[in-house]
Amino acid sequence: MQTFTSVIKMQEWCKEQKREGKTIGLVPTMGYLHQGHLALVREARRACDIVVVSIFVNPIQFGVGEDFEDYPRDLDKDSLLLEQGQVDAVFAPSIKEMYPLGYNSFVEVLGEISQKLCAQSRPIHFRGVTTVVSKLFHICLPDQAFFGQKDAQQVMIIEKMVRELNFPLSIVRVPIVREEDGLALSSRNVYLDAEQRKQALVLNRSLQAARELIQSGERNVAKVKSLLEQTIKTSPGAIIGYAEIYDASDLTEVEEIKGQVLIALAVKFGTTRLIDNLLVEV
Ligand code: AMP
Repeated sequence: MQTFTSVIKMQEWCKEQKREGKTIGLVPTMGYLHQGHLALVREARRACDIVVVSIFVNPIQFGVGEDFEDYPRDLDKDSLLLEQGQVDAVFAPSIKEMYPLGYNSFVEVLGEISQKLCAQSRPIHFRGVTTVVSKLFHICLPDQAFFGQKDAQQVMIIEKMVRELNFPLSIVRVPIVREEDGLALSSRNVYLDAEQRKQALVLNRSLQAARELIQSGERNVAKVKSLLEQTIKTSPGAIIGYAEIYDASDLTEVEEIKGQVLIALAVKFGTTRLIDNLLVEV
C-alpha cells in the first residue's frame, strides 16, 4: 500500500493506473476508521481494480465552535487497518496541500436538499463537503466513489452534484453499519461516556419504533413523527436537533407516507451530536 500526501503525486499515480486500463474506487473519509468505513472499502475492493482511501479532516466543512480541533485522528492505526483491507493507496494530504494560501474556489449544491436537516444547524457544512469531494474526484480520478447511507443527506447532495456537474463517475451507497446493540458506528462515538453511550441507543430504538408503526399501517407523517419524538424523549439526556420524515428522493415534505421516505435524526448527548436515519418503503 502506498501513502501519498502530495496532490500532484496522487494524481499522477491515479493517471498511471488509468493508462494501464484499471478502474479506480475512491473511499473518502476523515479517518479514525471503524467497521463502517471498512464496509465501504470492501465494496470498493469488490467493484474496482484499484482502491484509494482518502483521509482528510476537512476544515472547511466545520463551523465555528464545532469539533474540528478535537476530531479524533490516528493515521498509524488507520494505515494498519487499510493495509489489512487490501487498499492500494492512501491519500492523506495536509490542510496546506489541499487549501494553499489564497485558496478561494468552492462547489455548492443549492436548493431545498441543501437547506434542511443538518444544514439548519451547520449552514456551511455541505459547501465544505461538496468542495472537498470535488477536489478528491479531480485528484483521484475514480470510476466509482463509495459513501455511507449513515450520512444520508450528504450522499444525496453528492449524487445531485455528480449528476448536475457531469462528473464521469458513479456513486455507490453503502448501508449503515451498526454495533450489535444498534448504535450506528461513528468516529464521534468515542466522545460518549458510558452513560451517554447507553442513552444513544434511543436513536436506533426510535427509528425502529417509527418503522413498526408504519408497517402496522400508519401513514400519517405527523403521528409517526410524534412517536419518534416521544421515544427519543424517554432518554433523559437526549436533546433533539431534528426528527424528520421526508421524501427519500429529494427531501421534499410529505404528509402521507408513500413510496420511499427517509426518517432522519440528529440528537445531542452532552456536547456530542449524533445522526442516524432509516429508509422505509411502503
Ligand atoms: P467520515 O469519516 O465520518 O467522514 O465518513 C466517511 C464515509 O464513511 C462517509 O461516506 C460515511 O457516510 C461513511 N460511514 C461513516 N459511518 C458509517 C457507518 N456506520 N456505516 C456506513 N458508512 C459509514
